[in-house]
Amino acid sequence: MEKLRNGYLFPEISRLELEHIEKYPNAKLISLGIGDTTEPIPEIIASSMANYAHALSTADGYSGYGPEQGNKALREAIVKAFYKDLQIQDTEVFVSDGAQCDITRLQLLLGSKVTIAVQDPSFPAYIDSSVIIGQAGDEGGSGRYGSIEYMKCGPENNFFPDLATTSRTDVIFFCSPNNPTGHAATREQLELLVKFARDNGSIIIFDSAYSSYVQDDNCPRSIFEIPGSRQVAIEISSFSKFAGFTGVRLGWTVVPDELLYSNGFPVIHDFNRIVSTCFNGASNVAQAGGLACLSSQGFKAVNSLIDYYMENANVLGEALSSVGLQVYGGANAPYIWVHFPGSNSWDVCKHILEKTHIITVPGSGFGPSGEEFLRISAFGHRECILEATARLKTLFL
Ligand code: PLP
Repeated sequence: MEKLRNGYLFPEISRLELEHIEKYPNAKLISLGIGDTTEPIPEIIASSMANYAHALSTADGYSGYGPEQGNKALREAIVKAFYKDLQIQDTEVFVSDGAQCDITRLQLLLGSKVTIAVQDPSFPAYIDSSVIIGQAGDEGGSGRYGSIEYMKCGPENNFFPDLATTSRTDVIFFCSPNNPTGHAATREQLELLVKFARDNGSIIIFDSAYSSYVQDDNCPRSIFEIPGSRQVAIEISSFSKFAGFTGVRLGWTVVPDELLYSNGFPVIHDFNRIVSTCFNGASNVAQAGGLACLSSQGFKAVNSLIDYYMENANVLGEALSSVGLQVYGGANAPYIWVHFPGSNSWDVCKHILEKTHIITVPGSGFGPSGEEFLRISAFGHRECILEATARLKTLFL
């Protein structure tokens, strides 16, 4: 813990927000920062959780502990909804209380002795959990943690690492669509990644928390669309951004039977042991909600929320481009990644906050290559997004 350089990024952003509210109590603050969902959970889904919860007060409806791996019906529904024709079995799906928690459980499984690679920039939980488990420490002022391989992903390489210069590691965290850049890797890019992992005997931990935002058919929604991935990949995913379950808490991890350690032992057996020992299963109420999301009516309802956020992304992206800013992301993800050449990203973030009362996230919080960039979230009520675009346009015109 001592080796963690900074506090976790998002609580720091919340602190910035609170300080601003204290300083300007009458300002209308707009938060396009931490990336929390804002729109209500569709009624059909919320009522299925309410009904389930209410039934717990009856003799017939009561249930206690469920299977640690998740309810069979939900595991089957996840396979049907997200892995159709991809050879995934429901027994390979582990239902969880969210992707973040599974990142840490996977770190527990992997231990302190493995080497890891991360996209730079990337979601901070990969690195922070890696430091917590003891895989890496602060290198002191360099903006990097020693022994982590930072795979630079910026506009100059189409947000995909140069694998020819990437060192071999035991584990590769890879997030697509990426948080924060909003870039979704193409099929060709993921084929290269899978080949790289196979050649090196590495495990890819593929974070597909934003897969439901992918619009482009050439950008796979799952790593398991790539032939040969079953031997090298684990996928973590979530209902958070898919269905507004950031507060309900539900996710899943897929560990294929064919993924083996170098001694031939199946990784799935150990993950099952970790889940049974350190977790005990997701809330049964949340799982009832998950099942409702995957019913045909529920699926339609959550997809219209995704369309809503993607329209927000479109509005933001167009507005910022129209004032001459270089804008990335937003096409297959609810994040806009804006370049401010030559600037310090914390300074830009604070300047925007001071002048427009809009919270954003400085790119450097996601890794050294995030310097000069800002992440703007498209999660928000439409009127807030429109108001924010008007304020930003005025600032940058
Ligand atoms: N992975 C990525 C890339 C995320 O952006 C987030 C949340 O923002 C998570 C995982 C955490 O998801 P969950 O809410 O399922 O824990």
